[in-house]
Amino acid sequence: MYYVSTRDHTLRYTAAQAIEQGLSREGGLFLPETFPQLPDLKTLLPMNYQQRAAAIMGLFLDGFSGEELETFASKAYGGGKFDCPEVAPVRELHCKTHMLELWHGPTCAFKDMALQMLPHLLTASMAKNGEEKTVCILVATSGDTGKAALEGFRDVAGTKIMVFYPKDGVSDIQQLQMVTQEGENVGVCAVVGNFDDAQTGVKKIFSDPAFRDVLAGRGYVLSSANSINWGRVLPQVVYYISAYCDLVQEGKLKLGDKFHVCVPTGNFGNILAGYYAKKMGLPIDKLICASNANNVLTDFLQTGVYDRNRPFYNTASPSMDILISSNLERLLFDLTGSDEEVRGYMASLNATGRYEVSRKVKDAVRAQFVSGFCDDARTLNTIEKVFHNTGYLMDTHTAVAYTVLQDYRAKTADDTTAVVVSTASPFKFCDSVLTALGVTEQAKGTEILKQLSDVTGKPAPKPLASLAGKAVRFTKTVEKQEMLSVVDGMLR
Ligand SMILES: *Cc1c(COP(=O)(O)O)cnc(C)c1O
Repeated sequence: MYYVSTRDHTLRYTAAQAIEQGLSREGGLFLPETFPQLPDLKTLLPMNYQQRAAAIMGLFLDGFSGEELETFASKAYGGGKFDCPEVAPVRELHCKTHMLELWHGPTCAFKDMALQMLPHLLTASMAKNGEEKTVCILVATSGDTGKAALEGFRDVAGTKIMVFYPKDGVSDIQQLQMVTQEGENVGVCAVVGNFDDAQTGVKKIFSDPAFRDVLAGRGYVLSSANSINWGRVLPQVVYYISAYCDLVQEGKLKLGDKFHVCVPTGNFGNILAGYYAKKMGLPIDKLICASNANNVLTDFLQTGVYDRNRPFYNTASPSMDILISSNLERLLFDLTGSDEEVRGYMASLNATGRYEVSRKVKDAVRAQFVSGFCDDARTLNTIEKVFHNTGYLMDTHTAVAYTVLQDYRAKTADDTTAVVVSTASPFKFCDSVLTALGVTEQAKGTEILKQLSDVTGKPAPKPLASLAGKAVRFTKTVEKQEMLSVVDGMLR
């Protein structure tokens, strides 16, 4: 199977080439030329998560052996990296509503599902391509991705990783998670400025050919771990299929029964993986796309007009505060089948911040997607109400999705079984969750974990609880024009 670019379908690559390159040269994203169909789901039912991951990813990765993928899956998801044996457990909230918890990994957010796997896919791809250099991953992060990438790449042979975060742009817990990072091949540095400053600095380093030559001479090649790499989308397809298998195993659904999935969405990577699972034959009925006040996707999915010219809000669900959803480009390619049409939309987005898709795309989108959004007040209200009524504690991102699902059900009286994708532990966003529960006097630093634990009777996940005793390893703060020399210093 070959991979093509969304902006030039004549560029064809192997899976290993697509994963090593990340982004196509002309700016497009890679996706498989054709999509495999699922095997008989009966064969997946008795498997554990790792086995299902190897089986499903194998359908897309010619040139990777089954044995290789099983090894990757057990390294990524086994060996105590996740705090429950199911890896991505499905918990029943009501008989028709199930929570797919994707935050049992080492950093307590769903980014782990892909970033625990990506390092193995990337290093194997480089070996298959005959690339002998050490890869250095550069990341600019607004919070969750940096930590998840650090944990994924820590001590992976043949890799180094450098993460830049905005000095005053991440939460106390997120900062502590990063500056206490363990591993011999990792670096973390604060940048004076906001996320855009850090992001621009990283892009500048990537696009500096002289610096790349210097690094090549020292045996290094730069790469990125951001969510447009196919190696991050593919591992996410697995949990939709696995969740369905679990529901069937538990007798909550019969094989072939349809179900809805509802996904808190930012960059459109998570829900795109659900769309691909559906395309492969998983009986997903509606894909419900949930946004916060930054509701550019809600509008797009309802009207066919994508318009980023709107105010940007900092919300209680910061990982969804985004106005350009990069992975939407892959959906557009799939629905149009035309790289030319996608190029046109992306050129328009670049020039004016806006595009409007054709009638055909609009109809296709409306047939498969439902969309909605919810502001912070309703998000916090949901956290309180659900906790009060059922004892289930959800984080702010998950609460956005749950609220949007309830809105859809109220409007349509459609009571099809639904899976809500839960993307972070509530302990990652203690302050908002405590506010939701009416606690106004909040503890500082890591004490807030204990406070949320005391108020709710739930234990904080170990990776967060153990932060209190950890040594700070990275204290450097630089101006954005100094970022290159930080990378230069690390790669000597
Ligand atoms: C990244 C993230 C999201 C958004 O996922 P996308 O794939 O960007 O749509 C939602 N919730 C949490 C907690 C996240 O970290």
